[in-house]
Amino acid sequence: MQTNPFDDDKLHEECGIFGIFGTSDAAANTVLGLHALQHRGQEAAGIVAYNEGRFNSHRALGHVAPNFSSEKVIRELPGDSAIGHVRYSTSGGTLLRNVQPIYADLELGGIALAHNGNLTNARHIRDELVAKGSIFQSTMDTEVITHLVALSRKTTVVDRVVDALKQVEGAYALVALTPKKLIGVRDPWGVRPLVLGNLKGAPILASETCALDIMGADFVRDVEPGELIVIDAEGIHSHHPFPPVQRRFCIFEYIYFARPDSQVEGLSVYESRKRIGAELARLNPVDADVVIPVPDSGVPAAIGYAAESKIPFELGIIRNHYVGRTFIEPTDQIRHLGVKLKHNANRAYIEGKRVILVDDSIVRGTTSTKIVEMVRDAGAKEVHMRIASPPTTHSCFYGVDTPERGKLLAATHTIEEMTKFIKADSLAFLDMAGLYRAMGKPARDPLKPAFCDACFSGDYPIGLTDEVNRGTRGPRQLTLLAETA
Ligand code: AMP
Repeated sequence: MQTNPFDDDKLHEECGIFGIFGTSDAAANTVLGLHALQHRGQEAAGIVAYNEGRFNSHRALGHVAPNFSSEKVIRELPGDSAIGHVRYSTSGGTLLRNVQPIYADLELGGIALAHNGNLTNARHIRDELVAKGSIFQSTMDTEVITHLVALSRKTTVVDRVVDALKQVEGAYALVALTPKKLIGVRDPWGVRPLVLGNLKGAPILASETCALDIMGADFVRDVEPGELIVIDAEGIHSHHPFPPVQRRFCIFEYIYFARPDSQVEGLSVYESRKRIGAELARLNPVDADVVIPVPDSGVPAAIGYAAESKIPFELGIIRNHYVGRTFIEPTDQIRHLGVKLKHNANRAYIEGKRVILVDDSIVRGTTSTKIVEMVRDAGAKEVHMRIASPPTTHSCFYGVDTPERGKLLAATHTIEEMTKFIKADSLAFLDMAGLYRAMGKPARDPLKPAFCDACFSGDYPIGLTDEVNRGTRGPRQLTLLAETA
């Protein structure tokens, strides 16, 4: 879900979604699910529950815990089906009207919708609809879906949803709630995750398996790319309404975004990160005394690196968990401060040592620069930075928060320049071949890559209409669009 499609200062969204059907504690379980998905979005949270002809909702800015812990809130969300959403964004659009789930009263009844991902032609559709007189309530890309559902002339809600989704382009995992149905759907490429679970007979849809674990629900299976699941009193029905395309799950979910205790598309995120770390050690060895992760995201990769290199692993940097993610900070100045607030050197394990620092990625370079400085200040003899992903050279338009290209350190600097920038003794990244090996996949086939790795390759599998219209995409992307059309 991306807000403010009119804002040229690109906005960045990641989100978590949850839905449950057929249990008296639907809202309470949704709160639990959203707690587990909090890492996917900390800016806002919302729940819509359906009860006896009425949809009730509670939406709030901020974390799940302070907004959804009171009994009163749960009591006001009665019913045996509910959906929820956690949202993350970095600038603008931080308004209650932009908090999901979105709700709309339509010809065939009410529908609530929660979206993870980002639509790449939302602005285009919105402009067309506004020109014809549509009135939008929010600045979210997701709202175009409700408008398209409203305008569809198909005879059932499910067919109208399909009709709407056939007109949008981009990445989406969606859950929708109607009076009689819970619907879950992934875009044909399956860029964002969605799993099906079961809590004592009540079906669940959630972004990640950790949202099932928290309530003791069973994992049933991943929702397939392009699959639309309809859950109603009769059971679970699977549909495949879109023409099949090459599956392109977001590889960055494994590298950074998903929680390490989640199973995503059949793979453990934690195991994948450890294997990535081991590949990184094989590809970029260096003589050193200690391997130290940049917590938390660098920890599993550092464990893999240490095991492979046989260099001791230590928690040489301690993270303060009560400060939000660095990326949340809205200005560069505060972002710098955030990094200092967040991490502290564990001096005894650093002083006089040759240190290998492992982090999952370098985006703007802020974190690496600060951490290298902190480790040097703590007395490290040498600081070698190892990054558990290829250089992030391209923005994500499919729902991961990356800034515009000009702000990506790797888009504008060579590795040598980046090493100087972060003031490390050495800097090395995993390469694409190592990344695919770590994921247990054959070598990357440029014509049919197994993942969406656009942030590393610039190979965008799904059309970027709004970017092209904005003139920010060059001829290469236009060619790619033509290829995927
Ligand atoms: P930067 O400081 O701008 O180089 O960002 C890199 C740091 O941010 C790394 O420590 C990552 O763990 C973290 N990171 C990378 N990608 C994201 C993202 N999409 N959202 C939030 N944090 C991220």
